[in-house]
Amino acid sequence: QAKAAGRNRLVFFDPQMQADVMARATMENELRIAVNEQQFELFYQVQVDGNRRATGAEALLRWHHPVKGWVRPNDFIPLAEETRLILPIGQWVLQSACQQLAVWGRRSETEHLTLAVNVSALQLAQADFVEQVLATVERTEANPNRLKLELTESLLASDIDTIISKMDALRAKGISFSLDHFGTGYSSLAYLKRMPIEQLKIDQSFVRDILLDHNGNIIPKTIVALGKSMGLTVIAEGVETEAHWRLLVEMGCSAHQGYLFGHPMPVEEFEKSLSPVDLSRG
Ligand code: C2E
Ligand code: MG
Ligand code: MG
Repeated sequence: QAKAAGRNRLVFFDPQMQADVMARATMENELRIAVNEQQFELFYQVQVDGNRRATGAEALLRWHHPVKGWVRPNDFIPLAEETRLILPIGQWVLQSACQQLAVWGRRSETEHLTLAVNVSALQLAQADFVEQVLATVERTEANPNRLKLELTESLLASDIDTIISKMDALRAKGISFSLDHFGTGYSSLAYLKRMPIEQLKIDQSFVRDILLDHNGNIIPKTIVALGKSMGLTVIAEGVETEAHWRLLVEMGCSAHQGYLFGHPMPVEEFEKSLSPVDLSRG
């Protein structure tokens, strides 16, 4: 039967598998349309210091799907990476984030805010990544000292020398780096020492566990100590309750992000949440 269908044709024997392949193809098409029609938006989630004051935000990508509504990145970033659509998407993210940062930089109430932007390994691997970022910063007139790029540690494994030289070039222009999902990958301490990073980000899976028992403390405590000894700041993400927050502060963690302080939200809402003063007045 399969042979009769021809050598070069895919033959589906499993209806579920066929359905999966079709769904994937549909989503890939929709993602291409989304890129062309710019169906994306950045949401902003506040980051606070030990006194609970807002120091900045992380930009989190949302896809406004014409039928499904808001789609979160975990449901489309993997496919975007497979299809390399993450490159134009990532460029859009960077451009939008820098535009927002420039707007904040022009108002005294918001000029202190930093903005963290997630960067995928595929973007970082582009030969012209440094030029792209610097051109975007210049074009938008964003302050590079307020821009923070979040890299995922497990994705830094290959071609580390090239990656470090790109990071050095951006760092020299004032841009800083944070290592996202820290502790979940397998970054070598030797690499960590060579990379010009400012911050370690404790993954939310570890934060969730800190109240469980004594053992739940070990990893966050170790990351905080590691950060201190290397002169890096440490930020905890996924902080959902006062109890989690208190414990993290006790551990010496100096920066925090999570639903306790604010959900990711559209920029107008984010700005309103910062202070009772209406910042939209110009
Ligand atoms: P991430 O960078 O680790 O972002 C943190 C995620 O945790 C966000 O999910 C955020 O909404 C969620 N979160 C924040 N506070 C809490 C909390 O208190 N509790 C819980 N349970 N979750 C919390 P989101 O927005 O769905 O993003 C998921 C991931 O998608 C991000 O993880 C990041 O790796 C990736 N991503 C997001 N935006 C971009 C982007 O512009 N480019 C790339 N390449 N990846 C992105
Ligand atoms: Mg992140
Ligand atoms: Mg994270």
